[in-house]
Amino acid sequence: MSMVVIASNNKNKVKEFKSILNTDKIEFKTLSEIGYDKEIIEDGKTFEENAIIKARQIALDLNVIAISDDSGLVCHGLNGAPGIYSARYAGTNNDKDNNELLIKNLQNVSDRTASYVCAICIYHPNGEYKVVSETVDGIIIDTPRGENGFGYDPHFYIEEWKKTFAEVPLEVKNQISHRRKALYKMKELINEDFSFK
Ligand code: IMP
Repeated sequence: MSMVVIASNNKNKVKEFKSILNTDKIEFKTLSEIGYDKEIIEDGKTFEENAIIKARQIALDLNVIAISDDSGLVCHGLNGAPGIYSARYAGTNNDKDNNELLIKNLQNVSDRTASYVCAICIYHPNGEYKVVSETVDGIIIDTPRGENGFGYDPHFYIEEWKKTFAEVPLEVKNQISHRRKALYKMKELINEDFSFK
């Protein structure tokens, strides 16, 4: 059985990765499970570049197949902000601060359309890699609604549902999420043993 290292310690992400990419030919490990705590400098200019940087460093450092993701919120009326800076938009790594700054910056902006974006990269230690990206579209509302999810979810409103991502259970969000869509796209590109098609 081969090992694939998931470049994350986020429990929900790891669970989702495992459940979608699940195969009995692969054993998944997280960074903490293999004791990898080296800093990874994500200095790419796009979600794809950052996903590649993370997966490449782990694959080459550990000589294993690595899988990573990079995600964030893109607001079309803000020229794509917060984008790759989504986690540290307000400079504090705090969801509440990020959301307050987002709503402040959108105050006089009429285009409230936004997309969550997720890029996923699988990198082989032989240097081969694949990267995919997917989005989910919504609009940003001023008043937060709901307690579920994380990040910008209380402001991310799905018109079809008349609800924010924070107002629906995680399983419902995950049915259409950017991460879920990207993982399924990746699954189509890899074989059961994670060799490329
Ligand atoms: P990361 O890719 O897990 O580091 O996420 C980057 C940042 O993008 C998070 O800290 C959130 O601010 C934002 N983000 C990414 N995906 C989501 C989501 O599904 N809901 C809410 N915020 C998200």
